[in-house]
Amino acid sequence: MRTYFLYSTLILIVFGSCHKDHTELKQTIQDKKEKVNTLNKELNTHIDKAVVLDSLISIRSISYLNKESLLNSKSLDSFVNLEHLSDDFVFDLKYATADNFLKQAVYDCTACYTRLRTALVLLKINHELKDKGYRIKFFDCYRPLDVQKKMWEIYPNPSYIQNPAKGSIHNKGGAVDITLVDSLGAELDMGTPFDHFGKEAHRDYTELSEEVIANRKLLTDIMIKHGFWTIRTEWWHFNHLGGSQNKVENFTWDCD
Ligand SMILES: [Zn+2]
Repeated sequence: MRTYFLYSTLILIVFGSCHKDHTELKQTIQDKKEKVNTLNKELNTHIDKAVVLDSLISIRSISYLNKESLLNSKSLDSFVNLEHLSDDFVFDLKYATADNFLKQAVYDCTACYTRLRTALVLLKINHELKDKGYRIKFFDCYRPLDVQKKMWEIYPNPSYIQNPAKGSIHNKGGAVDITLVDSLGAELDMGTPFDHFGKEAHRDYTELSEEVIANRKLLTDIMIKHGFWTIRTEWWHFNHLGGSQNKVENFTWDCD
């Protein structure tokens, strides 16, 4: 009986200390994992800032104030309003007016948000275009998911409106609807207006004047050169590379 008691005590001590060692080891691993995560986050912030700086160096036309606000952005995935970034962009945000296929305003006021990584590329493109006498005019940028749902209710045609169940790259902050304007602010002739839901707006439609074909090519070539991709049915729509990997958002912006 005494032997049994002694063995039991010994086993308890051995197991007890093993359990304690195991718990300590688990804690140490957890601490190390957290440290690695923190270091990774810091590293990513530095990489993001380096990318922002690199882009800003090549974009001379941004005011000092905006450079500061860009550098203070949390990451390349954060959202920025392009209206605040550069005076060289032109905005005609159709969904803040009734001048769109919905025949009603679905934004309370204008704003052109994209992810910072997309905004930086758009700044670069606009800078390059300005040297040629053109600028980007925006019709739509980030679009809250609720607005996507409203559009889908009115016009459930997947050739033009992405099903909100899947989410559009506009909802992810990586897509823009744009055209080009000349140095006087006049839109270049693209053959159809924005949101023309017909074959004339398709990228493979060729019964267009030489001028229209050249204008569409000018816009498309520069966007593709800088990492955007297109969809077949809309000459005005561009998705930023990797934009589909971000998550769908539904925030709306404050109106002053
Ligand atoms: Zn679009």
